[in-house]
Amino acid sequence: MRKLHIFLIAFIVMTTFSLQEVKASGENNLYHQRMKLYKQVEAVTHIPWYYIAAVDQYERNVRAARRDLPKAGGASGIYFPPEQWAGIFNPNHEDENPATIDFFGGMGFDGNGDGKASRKSDEDVLHAFARYLQSYGTEQSHLKIGLWDYYKRDKAVSIIMGFAKIYKHFGRIDLEDHSFPVPLTSNYSYKNTWGDARGWGGRRIHEGTDIFADYGVPVRATCYGIVEMKGWNRYGGWRIGIRDIHNNYHYFAHLSGFAKDLKLGQVVEPGTLIGGVGSSGYGPPGTSGKFPPHLHYGLYKDNGYTEWSYDPFPHLKLWERQERQKMRKR
Ligand SMILES: [Zn+2]
Repeated sequence: MRKLHIFLIAFIVMTTFSLQEVKASGENNLYHQRMKLYKQVEAVTHIPWYYIAAVDQYERNVRAARRDLPKAGGASGIYFPPEQWAGIFNPNHEDENPATIDFFGGMGFDGNGDGKASRKSDEDVLHAFARYLQSYGTEQSHLKIGLWDYYKRDKAVSIIMGFAKIYKHFGRIDLEDHSFPVPLTSNYSYKNTWGDARGWGGRRIHEGTDIFADYGVPVRATCYGIVEMKGWNRYGGWRIGIRDIHNNYHYFAHLSGFAKDLKLGQVVEPGTLIGGVGSSGYGPPGTSGKFPPHLHYGLYKDNGYTEWSYDPFPHLKLWERQERQKMRKR
């Protein structure tokens, strides 16, 4: 049964991957189209494009992870509930008339000047959100307040600010590459141990994949992202958490130590050195050697309300294969 599951997951991952390859040229177009929209909004509102891009991406992620929201259809990922767009007391929730929407205090806005404020128009939707933010000001501190008032959630604000920092740093939004967490040339092994029982510290299940390798083997960022957490925990030892632009949290535990100069809030890319394989954990700070050295790698997903762990094994397999293909091409 277990084997069948693994096979099915691998099959799904492989099919999605090949579909993604086919779609790749279309996606480049989409990134181009989005960037153009963000720059247009920046020109009008003076809110730097990377903040617009960050909100758009956050909303797209939340929609992709939740069943109670319609999937994003256009280039923009921002979702406005009808009554929020038209105004709560507007008897017509599908109203597209900018004047009556304005009268009822809706957020809807005609961004492309076609006389209609349409939830189906990428320009209208992006301009509407930017206009809301602009009412707070265009500085980072103002935008943060605007975002907090909108989402009422510290985590949403910090995730969006993180995305903005990443986009600003790289000056682009197509940041989809991944790396395998240890060099493919090193001696390592791993198998799927998702859900296995773990004894230490009470009954827990194993939320991740263990990659066995020697002490000090380099551990690298798997994605474009931001260092969200760095420190000691009695289970995970020296550990690092990195947030990517899909609301995924990449967790690296039992490290021997951290890469020199690695800081909280630092922007990383696939392959950035973050630490070394070790056996730290299962005790007070500095405890090490209670089990063979390995990297514990976990993946967590945030959907705008809550965060849960999911099996990283199929992703590790995929990134390992992609990296091997890239090495061959060189
Ligand atoms: Zn583990």
